[in-house]
Amino acid sequence: MARRKFVVGNWKMHGLHAQLPEIGAIAKAAEAAPGVDTALCVPFTLIERAAAVAGAMPIGAQDVHAEKQGAHTGCISAAMAYEAGARLTIVGHSERRADQHETSHDAWAKAVAAHGAGLDVILCVGETEAERDAGRAERVVQAQIEKSVPDLAQASWFTLAYEPRWAIGTGRTPQPEEIASIHAIARAKLRRMVGEEADGIRILYGGSVTGANAADILALDHVDGALVGGASLTAEKFVPIIEAAK
Ligand code: PGA
Repeated sequence: MARRKFVVGNWKMHGLHAQLPEIGAIAKAAEAAPGVDTALCVPFTLIERAAAVAGAMPIGAQDVHAEKQGAHTGCISAAMAYEAGARLTIVGHSERRADQHETSHDAWAKAVAAHGAGLDVILCVGETEAERDAGRAERVVQAQIEKSVPDLAQASWFTLAYEPRWAIGTGRTPQPEEIASIHAIARAKLRRMVGEEADGIRILYGGSVTGANAADILALDHVDGALVGGASLTAEKFVPIIEAAK
């Protein structure tokens, strides 16, 4: 099945209002690449203004709370992110799994809540370096998918991102055959969970994607796009990745 390429920037804890022109420039490049879906996930504080300068390019959040409302100081619900202008959100990012001790079950609950509020979902999975060295990468990723992907996941709103933790922000990436192998395993696992719908679900690769390696990574089987951290912070670095997806 033909799946449109999807390139998503993740600004993490970067971005003040001074960076809005950068978002405008990225959105312009996204518009010039109509065959590619592009989105940018920014800090909550930037969502509203980013959406105002992003034109047709969707702006996303990087996390949402699993509950609709309540006594959760400092948290943001999916409906709040939507109201601010977000149209998608990342859930289960490895930095949240590591820093906030989020589990696969948390990621599942957040994905369900986000979908319920009208947000598309990018759910992240990926092994640690120790798990890869122990030969457990495939099993770890399969178990994360099993526990975190909602049964009701559909290609129209759900995307999976494979992000080996040791490749994030390190400048190191797995060998192409390692990426292709995990993506094929992830697709097979999705098929067992959601049936034929899995053939339409996009599986992104994330972890040290740059303009220099994007074309090779995006050409791999079952790699339907990229989730990009550091190299999404400026149009200069991000646009070549969007172009590579064309
Ligand atoms: P990186 O981050 O591109 O800076 O490695 C990717 C991510 O964490 O989504």
